Amino acid sequence: VAPYEELDPLVNRLNEQHGQLMHRMSQIQDIADLRREFTANVTHELKTPIASISGAAELIRDGIAKPEDVPGFAGRIYDDARRLSSLVSDILTLSKLDEAERAGEGEGSQELFGPSESVNLLAVARDVADRLAPKAREAGVDVSVEGVTMVVRGNARLLDELVSNLCDNAIRYNRPGGRVFVWVLPGEAGGARLRVSDTGIGIPEASRDKVFERFYRVDKGRSRDMGGTGLGLAIVKHAAAYHGAQISLESQVDKGTTITVTFPRA
Ligand code: ADP
Repeated sequence: VAPYEELDPLVNRLNEQHGQLMHRMSQIQDIADLRREFTANVTHELKTPIASISGAAELIRDGIAKPEDVPGFAGRIYDDARRLSSLVSDILTLSKLDEAERAGEGEGSQELFGPSESVNLLAVARDVADRLAPKAREAGVDVSVEGVTMVVRGNARLLDELVSNLCDNAIRYNRPGGRVFVWVLPGEAGGARLRVSDTGIGIPEASRDKVFERFYRVDKGRSRDMGGTGLGLAIVKHAAAYHGAQISLESQVDKGTTITVTFPRA
């Protein structure tokens, strides 16, 4: 039996370990809660367009839809099928990013996204702007890309996705006659800096941290109407982390938003 004076440090150590254990358990609980919430969200987001597609198809199949309404229903089926396809592809990208994060650097993450390569960020930004040009025209938004050639080590497809999601948002949450500026510049410490700036609706202060969470939207209706999955910025956040990059967000309601991603030296 330990003498009396030796019990105090023992009790202290036990207390400390108990504290650490409780902390770890609450972290595990948080992860489990997040996972449950994500699954519930995914289920809801998938069920909505599926219900709409089967509803419209049923009306056409049973001859209930008037002939003049059929094109409208077909359009709805098409839009919802597109929506499902973007959702599934975003969910897959995120789950691969999660897996890569768990695997850490090295072979595990290479298996998922291939070996890292040198990617010209300015070229990626130009490609993205070209691809989004019809959408920008339709929205009445002008997109310009400027800067210098900067090389980033990583995955070209993920970087494309990161830039696309930022530009796509900058166009969608803009106003007719608005502008989007994409800059690729040298950052501090020899890294590259990508900046996507818009003259759009802005993000309220209270939502600024939350917009990077999965399925968080400031305005659900607006996001859905414009084909948003609610996963774009979550992908940006994880794709940035995959490249060891930092993200910062500045925004003013009714003035615009600027998101800056700073990559480490290649
Ligand atoms: P979504 O598919 O809904 O656009 P995101 O994850 O890309 O999902 O963005 C989350 C939310 O953040 C959006 O629903 C929108 O409310 C807000 N948001 C994102 N980018 C911008 C922006 N450039 N300007 C204003 N709001 C934005």
